[in-house]
Amino acid sequence: MRQLVDQYYHKGLRNKLIESLRERGISNEKVLDAIRDVPRHFFLDSAFDRIAYEDKAFDIGAGQTISQPYAVAFQTHLLDLKPKDKVLEIGTGSAYQACVLAQLGAKVFTIERQKELYLNNQQFDYLKQFRLLKMFYGDGFAGLPGYAPFDKIIITAAAPYIPERLVDQLITGGIMVIPLDTENGKQRMMRIIKQVDGSITKEEFSEFEFVPMLKGKNS
Ligand code: SAH
Repeated sequence: MRQLVDQYYHKGLRNKLIESLRERGISNEKVLDAIRDVPRHFFLDSAFDRIAYEDKAFDIGAGQTISQPYAVAFQTHLLDLKPKDKVLEIGTGSAYQACVLAQLGAKVFTIERQKELYLNNQQFDYLKQFRLLKMFYGDGFAGLPGYAPFDKIIITAAAPYIPERLVDQLITGGIMVIPLDTENGKQRMMRIIKQVDGSITKEEFSEFEFVPMLKGKNS
């Protein structure tokens, strides 16, 4: 069961989380403000109440996890959001990352392949305030061609390669942030920028650990 009450101690725990993110090098104030504004414990079972603000990934059912706050902050920063950016997220999961993006004013389209998680989010009252957040059940490898193009694309699962169909759905100058599998079983965070001729430039960042991006839908 979720507990949708935000107490003073939750706010205190969030402030501590912000300080630890700063210590780890996150200095984007807008991103830090959004993380301070979104109550992460709402996205977890009430059993996680006291630990929801530790900088860790936690179980959300269907064998999946809510992203670690550091990864959320890092990926959100790399997206370089502008007001009203249209963002495609692959891997809704708990919808925490999607809400951080929506809190920053983005128009968010997010896809989840696990039906159970998609359906849970349909019942999640906190999400209803984000009128520009749209959730879809489907395979993220296909993206959402009917809603393309997107200014930004964020992939929150470990991708085996850069999905070409998603690059096709980016505007020229658009940014994709994607954790790509490495040989040691982790992922390297990459930022991709689509050029006028359709080619891409790549920048490499540090290593992260995500659950795998899988093909097809899971009912
Ligand atoms: N952004 C999420 C992170 C969840 S973990 C959050 O903030 O909680 C990654 C999620 O990606 C999982 O829920 C997993 O089911 C989903 N996923 C994996 N492969 C996918 C695909 N091809 N399409 C859509 N979702 C996918």
